[in-house]
Amino acid sequence: MKIKAAVTQSQEDEFKIEEVELSEPKTNEVLVKIVATGVCHTDAVARDAGLTPYPVVLGHEGSGIVEKTGDGVKTVESGDHVVLSFAYCGHCENCLTGHPTVCTDFNELNFDGKMEDETHRLQKEGNDLSTFFGQSSFGTYAVANERNVVKVDKDVDLALLGPLGCGIQTGSGTVLNHLKPAFGTSLVIYGAGAVGLSAVMAAKITSCKHIIAIDLHDSRLDAAKELGATHVINGKDENIEEQIKEITNGGAHYGVETTGVPSVVRQGLRTLRPLGKLAIVGVTPEVSIHVHEEIMAEGKTMVGVIEGDAVPQVFIPELVKYYKEGLFPFDKLVEFYEFHDINQAFEDSKNGTTIKPVLKISS
Ligand SMILES: [Zn+2]
Ligand SMILES: [Zn+2]
Repeated sequence: MKIKAAVTQSQEDEFKIEEVELSEPKTNEVLVKIVATGVCHTDAVARDAGLTPYPVVLGHEGSGIVEKTGDGVKTVESGDHVVLSFAYCGHCENCLTGHPTVCTDFNELNFDGKMEDETHRLQKEGNDLSTFFGQSSFGTYAVANERNVVKVDKDVDLALLGPLGCGIQTGSGTVLNHLKPAFGTSLVIYGAGAVGLSAVMAAKITSCKHIIAIDLHDSRLDAAKELGATHVINGKDENIEEQIKEITNGGAHYGVETTGVPSVVRQGLRTLRPLGKLAIVGVTPEVSIHVHEEIMAEGKTMVGVIEGDAVPQVFIPELVKYYKEGLFPFDKLVEFYEFHDINQAFEDSKNGTTIKPVLKISS
C-alpha cells in the first residue's frame, strides 16, 4: 500500500515527507494506522550519525490503531489501540527472564533496518528503506512484529501515548522497575528533560523522601517541581555536591543520570552516600573514574539501564493506569505538532523549547 512517511536520505538530512510503499504484514506482524508519534533524542542521533543504514524511515514512539493482522498474531486484533515499543526476540535468556531491553538481538532488531526475517517492509521506487526500532513510526502506517505493540485502554487519548514506548518508559522504568527506592530514601535526577521528568513522576509514586532534580534550565526545574520534585538545583550552581549532601543528610541513596555528560556522571557518583546506586540512562562516552576511591571503597554501584528495564506489555498498561488515576501526569510534558512540522519539532526539542514533541499523523 502507498503511505506517507518522513524519509531520511543521508546523514544530517532534513526530514522529507514522501510517498513510499509499505508491504503487507507477514506472519506474527501487524499493520498499524499511526495516530501520533513522539520525537525522541535517539531519532536525532540516527538522523545525524547513521545508527541505521540510510535511507531510513525513523520514529520509534508510535501510537495507533491495528488495521490488519498477519498469520499467527494472538495478542491484538484489528481495531485495538496500541503503543509501539522496541523490538526484542522473545526467546533469548534475557527475554525469557523478563529483561527484553537487553535482548541478545536488541541491536540487530532495532537498528539494522530489517525485520526479523531479514527482509524490508518499506520501499521507494523499488529500493528498500530501513525500518527503525522495528516500527518506523514517522509514517501514516507501520508494520511491526506483534511483540512491538502493546494494547492500551481505549478511554485515554491515543495521540498522547506514543512516548510511553520509549522516553517516558525509560525514565519511569529506571525508578519503578530497577532502582525500586526504599521507604524514606533520597533520589537525585540529573537532567530534567522528558526522561528525567518521567523519573521524577515515578519517584513521587514511590515513597522517596527527597526527590532532587538538577537542570540548566529554570523552566525545566519549574516543571520538575510541579511534577513532584521536593528540591531543584540549577546545574550552573557551584556547590551542587554540598547542596545535595545537606538536603539528604550525607548523600543520596540513588541517582538517575540522563545527560550523558562525563562530569555529571562523576558528580552523580560523588553525591551518593555509601552503598548508593547510580543508574546511567543517557548515552555516555568514556569517563575516567578512580574505581577504588569513587566506587569500591564506599560500596557504590553504577549500572546501565536501557528502556527502563521494562517489559512493555506489562509496564505500559501500568503507566496508563497511573495516568488515569492522576498519579502520572506525563501529558504535561507533551506539545503537539502537525506531521509536516517534523523538522520544527526536532529543532524545538534540541533547543529545549519543547520537552516532548508529539507529531499528530492522523485522527
Ligand atoms: Zn531476546
Ligand atoms: Zn527513544
